[in-house]
Amino acid sequence: MAKLQLTYYPDDILKRKAKKITRFDSSVRKLAADMLDTMYQSNGVGLAAPQVGVSKRIMVIDVSRRDDDDRESAEKTVPKPGKPIIFINPQIIKEEGEMVGLEGCLSFPGVFFEVKRYSSIVVRYQNLAGKEQKIEAAGDLLCRAIQHEIDHLEGELFIDKAVSPLVDQLELSKYGFGSDNAEQAPFNLESIQQLPSTEKVVPSVMLG
Ligand SMILES: [Zn+2]
Repeated sequence: MAKLQLTYYPDDILKRKAKKITRFDSSVRKLAADMLDTMYQSNGVGLAAPQVGVSKRIMVIDVSRRDDDDRESAEKTVPKPGKPIIFINPQIIKEEGEMVGLEGCLSFPGVFFEVKRYSSIVVRYQNLAGKEQKIEAAGDLLCRAIQHEIDHLEGELFIDKAVSPLVDQLELSKYGFGSDNAEQAPFNLESIQQLPSTEKVVPSVMLG
């Protein structure tokens, strides 16, 4: 397993619709293993292939080690594999209700804001052997993470779903992602690393 290079906004691959996977071979298994390694080492609970520069419909999620009052340790420890789920060619086949919650994204380090999601979903996907699977999720971090990651496969980003576009713009410009200068001033990891530690707090919902 290897830690892959993360892709940061405004890289074009993040805005592209990813391609369907049709061959379930060793290269897909290796990609899935490397994506899990990258997600755990980046302290995330989800990761989609475009975020590591691969425009394919595969995403990985592991929310088993996170709950809200675990914020303290979330920042300090690299989460160990718990119950990872590998989704290939996922599709939401049923959705209802809505819930609002705080989200972050590994492709936008430091940026967090409220996003509205369906509160209950049913998802069809394939596993590493290509076998069809179905999963239901409601009202929790898994429900939110699946929707966030599937958006990445559609080339949609959580900034497009912010409850308050104003907060969204303020938050983005704070980290050099402001829409008017997204092109001019691409993301600057150094600027994040120089921030005083309080501003680098990683809420427990650091999605992929
Ligand atoms: Zn994300």
